[in-house]
Amino acid sequence: MGRFIEGCDRREVQLLPDCVDDYIAEDSQVRVIDVFVDELDLSTLGFSEAAATGRPGYHPATMLKLYLYGYLNQVQSSRRLEREAGRNLELMWLTGRLAPDFKTIADFRRDNSEAIRATCHQFVVLCRELGLIAGGTVAVDGSRFKAVNTRDRNFTPGAIRRRMEQVEASIERYLGLLDTADRQEDEVAQVRTVRLGERLEALRRQMRQLQEMERAVADAPDRQISLTDPDARAMATAGKGTGLVGYNLQAAVDAGSHIIVAHEVTNVGHDRTQLANMGRKAREATGSNDLTVLADRGYFSGVEVLACEREGITAICPKPLTSGAKADGRFGKQDFRYEQATDSYRCPAGEALPRRFTSVEQGLRLHAYWSSHCGICTIKPQCTTGKERRVKRWEHEHVIEAMQTRLEHMPDAMRVRRRTVEHVFGTIKDWMGRSHFKTRTLERVGTEMSLHVLAYNMKRAINTLGAPKLIADARMSRATAAHRIISSAEARSHTASVDYRPAAFEKRARNSCRCFDRFGKEPVNYWRI
Ligand code: SF4
Repeated sequence: MGRFIEGCDRREVQLLPDCVDDYIAEDSQVRVIDVFVDELDLSTLGFSEAAATGRPGYHPATMLKLYLYGYLNQVQSSRRLEREAGRNLELMWLTGRLAPDFKTIADFRRDNSEAIRATCHQFVVLCRELGLIAGGTVAVDGSRFKAVNTRDRNFTPGAIRRRMEQVEASIERYLGLLDTADRQEDEVAQVRTVRLGERLEALRRQMRQLQEMERAVADAPDRQISLTDPDARAMATAGKGTGLVGYNLQAAVDAGSHIIVAHEVTNVGHDRTQLANMGRKAREATGSNDLTVLADRGYFSGVEVLACEREGITAICPKPLTSGAKADGRFGKQDFRYEQATDSYRCPAGEALPRRFTSVEQGLRLHAYWSSHCGICTIKPQCTTGKERRVKRWEHEHVIEAMQTRLEHMPDAMRVRRRTVEHVFGTIKDWMGRSHFKTRTLERVGTEMSLHVLAYNMKRAINTLGAPKLIADARMSRATAAHRIISSAEARSHTASVDYRPAAFEKRARNSCRCFDRFGKEPVNYWRI
């Protein structure tokens, strides 16, 4: 065969290293998973405890490691994880050759929803402790992810109307074909008549179902029903005609490290009500008192910007240009200058528009301004088609103007936003195989997304620090957090309930020890010796 690299003989006794640990490289990501999970306080995070009776179950640490490995390696389904656990050497190393069945794996994700979310948050805390998260600026964005529910099993008034029209057209067509078949008297025509009759009956049945669904949709709180996943909702996406039935992932990403510091899955198809919520979550996660949040036009809402302002979060979000007058080629509101000293506007013709009255529209107090000179204005056709041009101003409009000024002083804000947050969604969708979620309902989908986010953040941290440094730093960070000097008496009483075998001690500092529980896993405490 000439000069080719040859593999080993598969019947060779020592094809693999004697010890599986030798097979796992020092910078392997499974070692990071192992250390990260081992350093977690799983009971505090809310993972279910072992049952007092019955057959012993799998330790939550084992199951969590299995899932983390799966989400880091694009193996998210419980059946595929079961298969991998039985044949993948890295997983055998990670779980100690435990291979739970797919139902146990799926049940763990379902039953530990809150704890998995808390674990995801815990990794962000770790990144913060390691100084990975700068925390000054975060970019917020939302992206739609497909649910298990297909579009055919999602019903909105518009979709039902369109389907009814299609069914009606089909019935008309079949009735025409039936008339033609009736006029013919041969045997083939009779068979065709029977077949057409059956199809017509099926279409009429479909029409009755659609009418029933129309009534149910009219009674639904948000006028929408999904049959497979009741929480999934039809959502518009950026591309024309590319709407999907799914969920909206909101993510706040640190501009320095590109780590997802906060996320939330919603089934609301727009981002308008999310700015303050995500800003709050990001501030809590980063611990930054001076947080700037960058968001696109989809997040613009005066109420949300005001909420950010009141909470000390600096929002930067461009205002959408929705002026009908501007679209028609006339002056837009931006052509009118507000003069604070006189509480009036100055129009392009140089006339003052004093404040006239205040009204409440959709819960917002709006002041109306107009001039008495519009009737004799020479450029009125460029301004208004009405009697006079009226300009409305929200009572908190200064907050929006201040944000606009900030945006002008930071011309690359939207570029920073785009390069910080948008690739994150692309990566996660790629890891999902451009497919739908594996689970149903908002809560379970949220848990599934937390695992994706945790895997994404872990990969990001490994790429930034390198696995060996991340492992060492994670151990040290946990040790520092757990450090507490206790008296000898306290130490003695503590040891009474925990089996401290000599091998379970690890020298940490000159006059302190780290002790582990009897499984040699959980660090328990330090004390002076
Ligand atoms: S129409 Fe009225 S508001 Fe418009 S430019 Fe003329 S005076 Fe000013």
